[in-house]
Amino acid sequence: MELAVNGGKPVRESFLPYGQQIIDDRDIEHVLETLKSPYITQGPAIQEFERRVASYVGVRHAVAFCNGTAALHAACFAAGVGPGDEVLTTPITFAASANCVLYCGGTPRFVDIDEWTYNIDASLLEKAITPRTKAIIPVDFTGQPADMERIMEIAEQRGLVVIEDAAHSLGALYKGKKVGTLAHMTMFSFHPVKHITTGEGGMIVTDSDEYDNKLRLFRSHGITRENLQRDDEGPWYYEMQALGYNYRMTDLQAALGVSQMDKLDTFLARRRDIAAYYSKEFSSVAGVIIPYQLPYSDSAWHLYMLRMQMDLFTVDRKQIFNALRAENIGVHVHYIPVYYHPYYRELGYAKGLCPRAEHWYEEVLTLPLFPGMTDRDVQDVVQTVKKVLDYYRK
Ligand SMILES: *Cc1c(COP(=O)(O)O)cnc(C)c1O
Repeated sequence: MELAVNGGKPVRESFLPYGQQIIDDRDIEHVLETLKSPYITQGPAIQEFERRVASYVGVRHAVAFCNGTAALHAACFAAGVGPGDEVLTTPITFAASANCVLYCGGTPRFVDIDEWTYNIDASLLEKAITPRTKAIIPVDFTGQPADMERIMEIAEQRGLVVIEDAAHSLGALYKGKKVGTLAHMTMFSFHPVKHITTGEGGMIVTDSDEYDNKLRLFRSHGITRENLQRDDEGPWYYEMQALGYNYRMTDLQAALGVSQMDKLDTFLARRRDIAAYYSKEFSSVAGVIIPYQLPYSDSAWHLYMLRMQMDLFTVDRKQIFNALRAENIGVHVHYIPVYYHPYYRELGYAKGLCPRAEHWYEEVLTLPLFPGMTDRDVQDVVQTVKKVLDYYRK
């Protein structure tokens, strides 16, 4: 069969995105109930959603935010990141994992990735730590937890705060423990491509009372009615104790979050089934490397990435990407190394910083993966990837 990119008929008539939410009638009813209630923001749905996530993960506190990026910003504030401080993170992530450091006046330092998991290489961390290092932001890339035991060990020794970017890994396990219980603070995102959605939304979970207080302060202008420094003013009195933001989630979003939580385990099971099927099908395809999974981690499978041995093909990644898109398979690339972006280049970051990540970036593709995929969708992806790679293999 002729490839669609060469004028043939596409495998699929309709475009299959790489990720998509599932919203059902229960979700809609839940949001409507809140819409008709006295509180559409700063009401009870927020607390209910926070309690649901905290108990699912097994932590004492959860603080909801208007999005995951705001949540990361708040976590950096709570960790005390400020001008002159350095924070270590991975270049293979969404820009927000590093931008949150810049928001606080700190400096992100990029540490190269592990050859197998594509997560931050914990064995490079110690060399990257300086007297200015304040925190580490590991990212559970694709849903497989970073090497959290090693990272926490190093952080404890050096007095660093660990903020785990778990935007990809809600529900993942690491050595039998749920993601959210491993770091000082852990961030989840509820963007529609993530495991559950609130439209936009994010959360920080933590066991620390001190971080919990700071996160709540930061989320609402730095204003509080608790732990007041003056209490003789009058009953209306509140005070602003820090420069915070309005980073609150609405109750409409939280209501959606609560009913999405009911479905999280079903969503995760479907993601894991699809990933297992992909790996079974692609393990025998010449020229591709399926995602390596550590025996002690159970990924939440936000992304399924294929790495190609480009020297075995007659074309580069871009042409393979274009050929798959022409067949209506919504492949993607996650991510452009953060410091490649013009904004970071202007700050002085240059190519060559993380050679492994840079090489990896030339060779990868993200395949569609979301719980609403039908078996037919999954088979279309497998059939099309095989067809395109067979065509271009040397
Ligand atoms: C989605 C995502 C974020 C940001 O979350 P938003 O809710 O979109 O602000 C941060 N880090 C990673 C790795 C993400 O995938």
